[in-house]
Amino acid sequence: MSIDLMFQMPNPVKITGRSSSITNAFVNGIIPCIMPKQEEINEVLRILDMEGDAKCAYCRNPHTEWDHFRPLIMKKRPTGYISEIHNLVPACGKCNQSKGNKHWKTWIISDAKLSPKTRGIANLDRIIQSLEKYEAWSNPTMIDFEELVGRKLWEDHWKNCERLHQLMQESQILSDQIKNKIAQGIVKKERGKVVAPPLDPTKVSENNKLKIGIIAQTQLRAVLESNRISEDVIQLLQTNNYSKRTFNLNFPVLKAIDHSQNLINQKSDGKGYSRYYKKPITINSATYLLCSQWYEKDREYLVRWIKSIHKDSAGS
Ligand SMILES: [Zn+2]
Repeated sequence: MSIDLMFQMPNPVKITGRSSSITNAFVNGIIPCIMPKQEEINEVLRILDMEGDAKCAYCRNPHTEWDHFRPLIMKKRPTGYISEIHNLVPACGKCNQSKGNKHWKTWIISDAKLSPKTRGIANLDRIIQSLEKYEAWSNPTMIDFEELVGRKLWEDHWKNCERLHQLMQESQILSDQIKNKIAQGIVKKERGKVVAPPLDPTKVSENNKLKIGIIAQTQLRAVLESNRISEDVIQLLQTNNYSKRTFNLNFPVLKAIDHSQNLINQKSDGKGYSRYYKKPITINSATYLLCSQWYEKDREYLVRWIKSIHKDSAGS
């Protein structure tokens, strides 16, 4: 099994990626919760055609939570609905997450990620009918929070929320700057190392931490410039066929530089898109351009090829 299949890097986290959690906390933190009576729960389950056995009201899979049928938040402010049996239906995690603050009927037949329609849930018409029954039965409380707590207190609460969002955005900009600096530091270190590329093929597994473009610009460049590649292979690297077959590239890995011509034109394809890195590469005193069209999905091709060169060199 390839390393790429066995290993998956955790998703990077963004500070601003938590914005809706903050709004949720500012709304959910003040919403009243009215505990339902057993009879009321039974009644809701009967209306939803699932007497005695609560299932997700939207997809009929096992339920894990109760979802606010009408959204609590609209345009970053409370709608006035609260947590009560007249606004709660059993739901599964998938549906609850996918529905978010959308209107239930628009969402249920939408192509949203993990919506019941997207997941191909059976008998959607019957599910919609039972939800319409619930909607007609329920008589939800609607509160004018501002009037209840007074304008000053209410506005202060939302100013705090806005300040937090603002601070998160400023923090994200700073965080991006720091991240870039650290990444540049790592690239520099890597460049320093590849002046003498590691001969130990196991070291190549360190490549998993690097972007494919960085591997191409450091390790591939170093291997090519080490003059260990035969002239035949250098010729092959300038062909479409070999580059496609070996690296899944749509352009030749190398393009010999014609010094009588404009370099910028040579970097571009027929349509004017740049397909080669700016920095030329020197192999056996000839200069070439190195292809820049690397995609993460093709990482294994590149890593395997570099590895094979290291293996050949270690043996000789
Ligand atoms: Zn569900």
